[in-house]
Amino acid sequence: MPPIFKGPTTEKYDYIVIGGGSGGSGTARRAASYGKKVAIVEASSHPGGTCVNVGCVPKKIMWAAADLQDRFRHHASGYKFTDVGNPTFDWKAFKPQRDAYIRRLNGIYETNWAKEGIEYHEGFGKLTSPTTVEITRPDGQTYTLTGEHISIAVGGTPTIPAEEEIPGASLGTDSDGFFDFAEQPKRVAVVGAGYIAVELAGILNALGSETHLLIRGETVLRTFDPTIQETLTPWMEKTGVKLHKGTHVTRVDGAKGQTLTISTDKGEKIEVDTLIWAIGRHSKTQNIGLESAGVKTDSKGDIIVDKYQTTNVKNIYAIGDVSGKWLLTPVAIAAGRKLANRLFGPESLKDDYLNYDNIATVVFSHPPIGTVGLTEPQARKQYGDDAIKIYKTSFKSLYFSQVAEEHKEPTMYKLIVAGPEEKVVGIHMLGQGSDEALQGFAVAVKMGATKKDLDDTVAIHPTSAEELVTLR
Ligand code: FAD
Ligand code: NDP
Repeated sequence: MPPIFKGPTTEKYDYIVIGGGSGGSGTARRAASYGKKVAIVEASSHPGGTCVNVGCVPKKIMWAAADLQDRFRHHASGYKFTDVGNPTFDWKAFKPQRDAYIRRLNGIYETNWAKEGIEYHEGFGKLTSPTTVEITRPDGQTYTLTGEHISIAVGGTPTIPAEEEIPGASLGTDSDGFFDFAEQPKRVAVVGAGYIAVELAGILNALGSETHLLIRGETVLRTFDPTIQETLTPWMEKTGVKLHKGTHVTRVDGAKGQTLTISTDKGEKIEVDTLIWAIGRHSKTQNIGLESAGVKTDSKGDIIVDKYQTTNVKNIYAIGDVSGKWLLTPVAIAAGRKLANRLFGPESLKDDYLNYDNIATVVFSHPPIGTVGLTEPQARKQYGDDAIKIYKTSFKSLYFSQVAEEHKEPTMYKLIVAGPEEKVVGIHMLGQGSDEALQGFAVAVKMGATKKDLDDTVAIHPTSAEELVTLR
């Protein structure tokens, strides 16, 4: 078991990082690789943060289970497999196995920190001045570390409406609660239209829960390219998600663990066993002493930083979700590593910072979505209608040629190019395999690829992704 520190081991650390999630661990490890004396302060006894414990990792595992269920239930018979039509998913047996995998990852975090000479201080970190962090350990004891540089990487937490706003809202849970479910809910309502709502509703629906999705607008993923919204929304409905469009929850009645009745502004009464709020997240900036150090936040509570992740206090930085931009694990890690490069690395990296343009992202819907760059409305606004050209294709992939018509998933690829040189400024993919295919295309976009560059790339056949290099 690697050591967990119970007090300072030096008068002054080179670097103190509050939060041992994606960003905190990334920045601390990079700093330690330059031989710096680094401390991570982590409030949870399960290091690794949201992604590892209640985010990307358990979510992707559940998505894989749901994907498998779709293949058994809807695809296998088309391929003339027999007796695979209706397998049952044993959620109760699967959850402890999934949890055990996550516990192993927690252990790997601790071991890596120990191997790299990073001190792990378990406890709640709070700034008491621009150079000091007070730690309150789980047993209530406190002590203080002093640091030359301090990074805040405390991440965020799900937002749940206040009781005054929606009476009974607290009877619902959130994505953290989803990962606690010991058993699969028979009937569930998910409120929200973003990444988490779409992913959790998709998983629950595919695994056989009666799934209601309550959205305020007419489509899911309203910040995504319109063609993505228009393709995924009806497909979710077709696959069985009970979509309640243009709907606001007005109250929730019942008791935790029993039937909940959700009332909406459309006069509906929806009865479910569980309600999941997935209406966004907010930064964990409360009670961490930002005022003692003079660190400023914006109206949402996110810490304000410049392009170097520096706050208004010159030796205090913020990285990852707490800085409110692109709430994604690789973004937090990249920002953290680049910050450590700049602070502690060689001369050649003294200006290193994360460029937030063209960040690729995937939504693990069924089928998945991959997107990088501008949406069509953004591109039209930035370049003007006349400078934009859209290439688009919709098709059913070869895999689905053997699958019954009603279960053939859509594939849609859209390429947005700008200017006479047809520079690729946006790629939007929906369809089986888009989650894996996007990464390579994201490299091309980052390098400034043009439509001609894609055309000059010989296709890989037979794949779906080849359609992106043969668009006309
Ligand atoms: P976190 O990972 O949240 O780490 C913050 C850490 O700080 C935590 O360990 C916390 O315990 C600790 N902490 C908080 N306050 C204190 C304190 N005062 N003192 C000490 N420690 C403290 N991103 C993707 O890229 N791909 C995905 O597929 C994906 N799926 C997701 C699914 C879900 C359901 C959710 C909720 C998120 C998902 N994300 C995904 C987003 C991703 O998890 C976050 O963007 C990422 O974890 C942010 O990293 P971070 O370091 O900023 O914060
Ligand atoms: P998002 O910001 O993605 O979506 C929340 C959505 O909920 C909003 O877009 C809004 O949609 C809707 N909403 C907001 N307020 C309300 C309200 N009061 N009532 C009803 N609906 C409301 O947040 P998530 O919580 O889904 O996820 C947080 C972040 O975590 C994501 O932005 C993403 O960065 C990250 N994440 C990444 C994943 C990945 O990489 N695959 C997976 C999961 C999370 P509308 O305006 O249409 O109503």
